[in-house]
Amino acid sequence: MEKEIFAELTKLKKEMVGSLMELVKVPAISPESGGEGEGKKSKFVEELCGNIGFDRIYHYDTFSHGVKRPNLIAKIKGKKSESRLWVIAHLDVVPPGELKLWKTLPFEPIIKNGKIFGRGTEDNGQDLIAALYAIKAIRNLRIVPQRDICFAALSDEETLSKYGMKYLVKKGIFKKGDVFLVPDGGSPNGSLIEVGEKSLLWLEIATIGKQCHASMPEKGANALEAGSYFICKLKDLRKTFNQKNPLYEPSYSSFTPTKRLANVPNINTIPGSDTFYIDCRILPCYKISEVLRFLEKIKKEVEKEKKVRIKIKIIQKEKATETERQISIVKGLRQVVQKVCRVKPKVRGVGWGTCAAFVRRLGYPAVVWSKVERTAHQPNEYAKIENLLTDSKVFALLFSSF
Ligand SMILES: [Zn+2]
Repeated sequence: MEKEIFAELTKLKKEMVGSLMELVKVPAISPESGGEGEGKKSKFVEELCGNIGFDRIYHYDTFSHGVKRPNLIAKIKGKKSESRLWVIAHLDVVPPGELKLWKTLPFEPIIKNGKIFGRGTEDNGQDLIAALYAIKAIRNLRIVPQRDICFAALSDEETLSKYGMKYLVKKGIFKKGDVFLVPDGGSPNGSLIEVGEKSLLWLEIATIGKQCHASMPEKGANALEAGSYFICKLKDLRKTFNQKNPLYEPSYSSFTPTKRLANVPNINTIPGSDTFYIDCRILPCYKISEVLRFLEKIKKEVEKEKKVRIKIKIIQKEKATETERQISIVKGLRQVVQKVCRVKPKVRGVGWGTCAAFVRRLGYPAVVWSKVERTAHQPNEYAKIENLLTDSKVFALLFSSF
């Protein structure tokens, strides 16, 4: 059966590449990021689904910012219906960013050296198309999958999933027995099978000092200097929360200052306010509240020493999630990955966040896998054609055997 599946997908390769190129031409940037939403792209995907011969196609659409946020689901029946395998892909893409960093136009895909360049090629076009053609291949070969396959193309993954995966969770459409494959993250050789995501904590640190003329610093309280002092003290945080877990990549918790707001426009004024942000990715052995308590301690020290006031605001907080490593979907995927990619699979946790977290929180098993070059969100994002084919083989084998 394996040989027939691989041959069928190799036959479909040209069509697959064509479909990915067409898909990338439809931008689908969320309205939160200044785009027109996922409506057009959803229509394109629905047409593709129509040619594949799903048993049922339905929607859980919603609205935000005056535009439709489509969530498309296409289903084929398997041998046993009491368990469903969900494949969760997303329609939306992040904005291209600075255009001068792109060598080609982001929404006019081109092929060069076996790679397709364009925004959304790898994230998440490659695996959306690979999953669809995996289903097309087993349909063409009249293979009935082991269980029902529900393919989902969702909105709003790049901006917190409120109108995508979280919306589906709220609607209560998932049920006991469901398992999830989220092909939206992985490694270049395909060995990484992601089963856990660290806790995520985003903080805003606002320092209020006293603005004054830079020639008389003693009359003010320099908020920039105090804020920077806070940043230097993050090393104490790293020293305290220093446990390592080799089942995670990277194996440690990270506490990283990132964005900083502009302050005074001129050089000869001491800034009276300073705001910066910290991105924390915390191993599941630590509670988020412990980290917050430690930051509170740093805050008090800086306030006292630098004579400023500091406000810590939580921007986003997500608790770590894990799927058991011994569960059958993990075993099934391991076998298939080993066979197709010829690598020893590594079952690991990571610092990034995907849609898998929302269903893991409900107690459902979810694995994240794809063979990717990790060009997502970068200028000159690309998908390797070879990866497109490999991923479709992995999915087709999984659908027919698991
Ligand atoms: Zn993605």
